[in-house]
Amino acid sequence: MRKIVAGNWKMHKDREGTKAFVAGLMELSVPEGVEVIIAPPFPFLAAAVEQLGGSAIVVAAQNCHQKVQGAFTGEVSAAMLKSIGVKACIVGHSERRQYFGETDTAVGEKISALLENDITPIYCCGELKDERVAGRHFEVVTAQLNAAFAALSAEQLKRIVVAYEPVWAIGTGLTASAEQAQEMHAHIRSLLASYGEAVASSVPVLYGGSCKPDNAAELFANPDVNGGLIGGAALDGKQFAELIRIAGAH
Ligand code: PEP
Repeated sequence: MRKIVAGNWKMHKDREGTKAFVAGLMELSVPEGVEVIIAPPFPFLAAAVEQLGGSAIVVAAQNCHQKVQGAFTGEVSAAMLKSIGVKACIVGHSERRQYFGETDTAVGEKISALLENDITPIYCCGELKDERVAGRHFEVVTAQLNAAFAALSAEQLKRIVVAYEPVWAIGTGLTASAEQAQEMHAHIRSLLASYGEAVASSVPVLYGGSCKPDNAAELFANPDVNGGLIGGAALDGKQFAELIRIAGAH
């Protein structure tokens, strides 16, 4: 299965910073079997797509609205993203769940809207610190996946990417150990298999949560870890390039 290194820029960088980062990225030779994705803020998506031209590097959005169009001030539809050449979109990130009240049901609808527009949803799931401490992490992730995937067919599910992001590890410097990541990724893989073996073998499961060049090798070496969704380390061209290199070596 392909390895993915996806950078979630969150609300960082400006127009010039985006341009410079993309220029640096275009200089890299991306190892075979590795897909590189960057998710800049909305205002810079179109320029990034244009600058990348025919490159295989994918530009992703960080969110979209589930409806086709309407009176939803401040929102952006999947069709709008498609029209500017966006090919992937993060949905259900814990920051969207926590600060913007995004529910599993809404996330499921966003996944459908994206797939209808041929955009790859990068679906984020993961437990809070209290839930991990209480030993409820498998239960929580199971419920998140089942709720978001309930209305989707196996054919649709085959076209998504899952990112396991333990919330206690995001932006905290704490990382899941290689063992903690592998056991949850294997659990997610078995949940995907309940929608069909073809789903389990088609869907990359990325790890996210303080993944950096110094811990990526042990995380990416796990059989069910198919790359990373990277926050902080994706803002720095050198660190992001190193993560791409490490993904290619595992
Ligand atoms: C993220 O927000 O998706 C993320 C993984 O962030 P960080 O790498 O900074 O923990």
